[in-house]
Amino acid sequence: MPAAGRRVWNFSAGPGVMPEAVLRHAQAEMLDAAGSGMSVMEMSHRSPAFDAIHTASIADLRTLLAIPDNYHVLYMQGGATAQFAAVYLNLVGQGDTTTPVDYVVTGVWSDKAAKEAQALGAHVRRVTDTSADRHTTLPDAAALALQLGAAGHGDRGGKPAYVYYCDNETVHGVEVSPATAVLDHVPKDVPVVCDMSSNFLTRPIDVARYGVIYGGAQKNIGPAGVTIVIVRDDLLQRRVPAIPAMLDWSLAAKNNSLYNTPPTWAIYISGLVFKHVLAAGGVTAMEAQCAAKAARVYAAIDGSGGFYRGPVHHAARSRVNIPCRIVVDGAPAEALETQFLADAADAGLVELSGHRSVGGLRFSLYNAMPMAGVEALIAFMAQFQQKHGPPRA
Ligand SMILES: *Cc1c(COP(=O)(O)O)cnc(C)c1O
Repeated sequence: MPAAGRRVWNFSAGPGVMPEAVLRHAQAEMLDAAGSGMSVMEMSHRSPAFDAIHTASIADLRTLLAIPDNYHVLYMQGGATAQFAAVYLNLVGQGDTTTPVDYVVTGVWSDKAAKEAQALGAHVRRVTDTSADRHTTLPDAAALALQLGAAGHGDRGGKPAYVYYCDNETVHGVEVSPATAVLDHVPKDVPVVCDMSSNFLTRPIDVARYGVIYGGAQKNIGPAGVTIVIVRDDLLQRRVPAIPAMLDWSLAAKNNSLYNTPPTWAIYISGLVFKHVLAAGGVTAMEAQCAAKAARVYAAIDGSGGFYRGPVHHAARSRVNIPCRIVVDGAPAEALETQFLADAADAGLVELSGHRSVGGLRFSLYNAMPMAGVEALIAFMAQFQQKHGPPRA
C-alpha cells in the first residue's frame, strides 16, 4: 500500500468497495483524461470525449450481459428508489388504479417498491410476502407458481401489467436463485420487472426473459448517482399519461440518456468497471469468484459451532450480502457484536454492521472484494471466537 493512505477491507453494503485498479486508472486520468487536458468531471456531457466514454460503457455492458438488440440501456438518476415509482408510471400510468400489478415481496426493497407504486395509486397485489418469516426465506415455489399462474389466467381479478421482484434483498441477505426463479412461473406475456441493485454483474442472466432490469450503481458497479435501466423496446411504446421527465424511460431512450445533464463521473467510473470485469473474464468469472467467496464465509459461520449464526434459511442465502449474528446461550449477544465491530475496525475490516433495521453483522462480498479480504475476515472471525466464545466441546 502507498504511504499516502491505508486501504481497509470494506464490507459495506453500499456504496461498496471498488476495484483498486479502477481507482488507480481514474487517479491517473484525474487531471487529463484521454488527452483532453481536463478531468472527466469537467467535460461537457455533449462533448465528443464524453460521448466516447458513454458509448463505450453501454457497448461493454451489452457485451457483459449479452443484452439483446431489442433492449435499451439507460442511465437514470434518483437511485434505485426513483425506479420504484418509474416502474408503475412507465408501465401502467398514473391514474390507472384498476390494472393490477403483482409484487413478490421478499424484503424491505421489494416492500418499498410495492408501497411506492401503491402510494401513486397502483392496484398492487402482493403475490407473496415473507415478512412473517422476517424475510429469512423465499416464497414457496409451488405457492408462487399457483399465485402467478392464476393471475395469468385472470383468476385473481385480472392479468397483471407486470410482475415485480427483487433478485437480491440487500438488507436481509435473501437471493432468488435461478432454481427458484420467479421467472418460471410468470405467464409469457406478462413482463417481469427486476431490481438487481445488489447482485448486478455477479452471474450471467438471460435478459430476454425480463421486461425491465434495473440497478443502482453503488452496490456492485460504481459510484452512487447513476442507476442502470435495461428495458425492452416494446415497453417504451406504452401510452401512459405524462411522466415527470426524470422518470420517463421513453424520454431517456429518445435522448440517449442525455435529456438533461447525466451523472457523467458515475457513468465514466461505471464504464471503467465494465472494462475491468470484461478483462477479468466477464460475469461467468464473477459468478465463480462470488460462489467461492460466499462458500468460504458460510463455511466459517456454519463451522463455528453456533457462535456465528446466519439467520437466513439455506436455500434463500445470498451470495453477496451475508447477515450474521453472534449467539451465546441461544440469544444474540449484542455487546459481543459491538466488540466484534470495534476490534474488526482496528484490524482494518470495516462496515461489518448489519442494517439498522435488523441489527447484528452483515458481510457484503461484492465483485470488487478480493478473496484476500474474505480470508482476512475469516481469520479475524476465528480469532475473535477463540478470545470471546465459550470453550468449544
Ligand atoms: C440499495 C438498494 C436500493 C435503493 O437504492 P438507492 O440507490 O439508495 O435508491 C434498492 N434496491 C436494492 C436491492 C438495493 O440494494
